[in-house]
Amino acid sequence: MICGASNQDLASITDLCAVFAAAGVHCVDVAADAAVVRAARHGLLWARQRTGADPWLMVSVSDGSDVHFRKAVFDPDLCPSDCPRPCERVCPADAITADRGVEASVCYGCGRCLPACPQQLIRAQEHQVGLEGLSQLFQELQPDAVEIHTSPGRGAAFERTLLSVAASHVPLRRLAVSCGLEGHGVTPAVLARELWDRHGALRRLGMRPLWQLDGRPMSGDVGAGTARAAVRLWQQLRAIAPPGPLQLAGGTNDVTIDLLQTLEPSTLARPSGVAFGGMARALLQPLLQQAESRQTSLRDWPRGWDEAVSLARSLIEPWLQKG
Ligand code: SF4
Ligand code: SF4
Repeated sequence: MICGASNQDLASITDLCAVFAAAGVHCVDVAADAAVVRAARHGLLWARQRTGADPWLMVSVSDGSDVHFRKAVFDPDLCPSDCPRPCERVCPADAITADRGVEASVCYGCGRCLPACPQQLIRAQEHQVGLEGLSQLFQELQPDAVEIHTSPGRGAAFERTLLSVAASHVPLRRLAVSCGLEGHGVTPAVLARELWDRHGALRRLGMRPLWQLDGRPMSGDVGAGTARAAVRLWQQLRAIAPPGPLQLAGGTNDVTIDLLQTLEPSTLARPSGVAFGGMARALLQPLLQQAESRQTSLRDWPRGWDEAVSLARSLIEPWLQKG
């Protein structure tokens, strides 16, 4: 379950981690930020004490400019008073308020508000952890796994980032490599070659890979159509990708498993896993908001908690049973 590489909404991160851990996910993925990791660990501990669930904690970094590591910004004082506020309507995270503009901790950089503003007031701002201090940060965070977002053509930057991760000497269960085709203008064969290069770098450091195929970044909550991008990317890469689990991400949602079974009826061919981001968060968003308006958390609101875990299970269990 992906909390979002730029999501710093600590209260919802604690609840999301607790709910999805209790629902049975194997890993939660959060921003490489000490406060975020603390919030996530709090939620995971809460779930472990009550259910025994103990998923991995993964943190995400990028080896360069990446849509997962940005935030929207605008000056609300420049907005015309009669603006119908389309930016607020399109924001899936409810990060935009009339008085404060974009709430930076809540924005996860999906970018949907950028073209929505008729005044073109909204711009994207990079929000990224630099290489300096990365090793020390990982020593502090002690994650079970690290995800590096990369792109075709960034092999050297990837290796530099990887060396910083390795210098922390944190024993990682997996080093996840997140990469897709969208917006990069390369073929699946080129992407596969790039992944083979990353594989060589990981092997030289004795790290075990997990390939996270990013079909259509941050779009799982948009609708059924986005699921196809992730499945298609997996179909294109599975025979030519380097060794290691291939996981679906980017556009995954509740129809992904049915789509996969329709396109690939043979159970012999299956991805190793699936990562849910926008869809997972959108599923719980109304309950998180209700909890906030009650000035409580899902963990301290028994009816909300039961409903949230049941919703999370509805997304996860088909994969645990048939995936
Ligand atoms: S629409 Fe996306 S980018 Fe814009 S404020 Fe909301 S979460 Fe951030
Ligand atoms: S759409 Fe643009 S002008 Fe209107 S409220 Fe949003 S940022 Fe301001």
